[in-house]
Parts: sequence; C-alpha cells; structure tokens
Amino acid sequence: MSALKSRIADAIRTNGPMPVSLYILMCLHDPRDGYYATRPGFNADFTTAPETSQVFGELLGLWAAHEWMRLGSPRKFWLIELGPGRATMMADMLRAADSVKGFSDAAEIALIEASPALRHAQRERLEPRPTRTFDELEDVPPGPAIIVANEFLDCMSVRQFVRDGNSWRERQVGLATGERLHFGVGPHADLPPNVIPVGDNVEVAPALETMIDGVARRFRRDPGRALFIDYGPSDRSPGDTMRAYRMGQQVDPLADPGVADLTADVDFPRLRRIAESEGLMVHGPIQQGYFLTRLGAPDRARSLGRANPARADEISAAVHKLIAPDEMGTRFKAVCLSPHGVETPPGF
Ligand code: SAH
Repeated sequence: MSALKSRIADAIRTNGPMPVSLYILMCLHDPRDGYYATRPGFNADFTTAPETSQVFGELLGLWAAHEWMRLGSPRKFWLIELGPGRATMMADMLRAADSVKGFSDAAEIALIEASPALRHAQRERLEPRPTRTFDELEDVPPGPAIIVANEFLDCMSVRQFVRDGNSWRERQVGLATGERLHFGVGPHADLPPNVIPVGDNVEVAPALETMIDGVARRFRRDPGRALFIDYGPSDRSPGDTMRAYRMGQQVDPLADPGVADLTADVDFPRLRRIAESEGLMVHGPIQQGYFLTRLGAPDRARSLGRANPARADEISAAVHKLIAPDEMGTRFKAVCLSPHGVETPPGF
C-alpha cells in the first residue's frame, strides 16, 4: 500500500469517512506524497495542449501582446500564469510575443504554482528571465494583469452530491474490509449556493468561486484579462465526472492515491454565472478548435512546416490534434473574463 493510501486509511479509521473533496486535495496536494508534489514528470499521464504543439503557446503569446496593447501598452504589467506545469506555454508565449515591441520588457512574470518540484522546473525552463512564484492569485501585487491558465481549473478539488428523494447527500470515501477504499454517501446535506442541479448527481468546485472572486477583485482595481482554457461542456453543469489517469489510461480513482492524476470537468455555466454576478464581462466559452483557428493556428503550422520541411508532417499532425473536433478541438473551451466594456478579445 502506498504511504498516502495508508495515511488516508488511518484518517478514515480515526475520523470516519471523508468527503470526496478532501480525498482529492490529499491525493493532489499532500506535500509529502501528493501527485503534484511527487510527479513533476506528469506528462506521462496526460499530454496538455502546450506540450502537444508550440503553436498553442505562440498564439497565446500573440493574444496576450494584443490585449496588452489594448490596455494601452502599460510600461509594466503582470503576466500571470496559473498552474504553469513545465512552463512550456509561458516559454512559447514569450518567444512569440518578443516580436511585439515593448511587450517583453513590460511583462513581469508571475507564476502561481502549488508544487515545489514544478516551481523549480519552471524557473529553470524560463531562465535567464526573472520570474516570481506565488501561492495564490491574491498574492500578486497590484497592477495591470494578463492572466492565462491551461488545464488549471480541472485540477480543482470537487465536492460531489447524490440526490436522495427530495434532498442530497455528500459523496464520501470510506474504508471497507481488507483496507479497500470505497465510495459511499454521508448524511443529508445542503447544496452550496449558486448550484443548479441537473439530474441526480452534482459536482461543485468550491475553489472556482474563490478564484473568480480573486479575478473580479483584481479587475475592480486594475485593468486586465483572464483567459482560461480547459475541458467541460459549455451548456450544462457536470454531475459526476471526477476521474483518474495514469500513463494515459483511465484508472480507478481510489486504487492508487497520489499516484494517478485526478481531474473533473469544469463547470462552465457556473463559472459564467459567478463571473457575471461579480460584475465581470465574460467572452465564451467557445470551443478550442474555433478559438485557435481564428487565431491562425493552421497558417502558423504551415509556415513552421515550410521552415522545417523534415518535421512538417509532425507539426501539422500536432496542430490537427489541438483543433480537430474528434480530438481536443471541441472538448476544450476557451473563456475570457475582463472588466466591463472591453472590446471582444481575439479569437472570440
Ligand atoms: N498548464 C500546464 C500544466 C497543467 S497541470 C500545461 O498545460 O501543461 C496543472 C498545473 O496546476 C500543475 O502545474 C499543478 O502543479 C498546478 N496546480 C494544481 N492545483 C493548483 C493549486 N491549487 N494552486 C496552484 N497550482 C496548482
């Protein structure tokens, strides 16, 4: 049994079954044995868009430069990335945006990262460029900001509720004979505010609200944009989507705590509702394939291919993966939050 599994089993023996949300938090962020603390090479488990093709980060870099100009090309601004992973996207963004005069000198890089191992990898990847790392978005000092995040919202912990007649029960992780972890339900519980149930299962990421609240407070004080790219349906809230991946395969989320990645669909309708109620302007969610195509992904792939004829097929296949409807093109969505009154950002 893994070290984390036996600690979770001990905690359940002592305190009783734990909510799914606490189980996920321990699996992902336990400082000693959690997934992100111990597996900085997580790309064996899933491949993200920036790791699929450099075109992804390059287009986002040009997007950021365009929006920086719309902010009036401030002499200093924060370029903030939430959950940068190996910092591939930030490196590609900065390289591409270097062609826009003044952007690179104006950008102060702020990385919001929980994992010490990844913090180290990010600093190395972006050297010699100075970067600052923070625990939370709120910790980044005031100033105009362009915030970007790819596959960050999907690793927020979720609470799960199951309908029981006219009320709800929260899903929990308990311990069965033979030290086996299993799902069960707790006593009757109220759904959190802001939740519109669809069907008999409800999944809520409490941190989503905190995060949008942080963006809204920032944009009431300083101008900016926040671009999120992630997966989830745009027209309905997820019910029961928490799942685990290991080496590219979907696995039992209770089998190997801390060893497999845990993820859940992003609740885009709720994100929209909360953002609007906080006074933010919301563009999207729109499909990634549509967004990247409008930003010029196919053209960029062709010109990269002409410059590297030996790799042209590989480059075009990678970009196809990002935009094709049966690959990442429709499952992933882009959504942009901004203060009211801004012009529609590129791609939307
Ligand atoms: N954006 C990268 C990595 C995605 S994986 C890419 O597209 O390749 C998710 C990233 O978010 C990892 O860097 C992980 O360590 C970080 N992360 C997850 N939860 C976090 C939290 N609560 N606070 C800060 N960083 C977090």
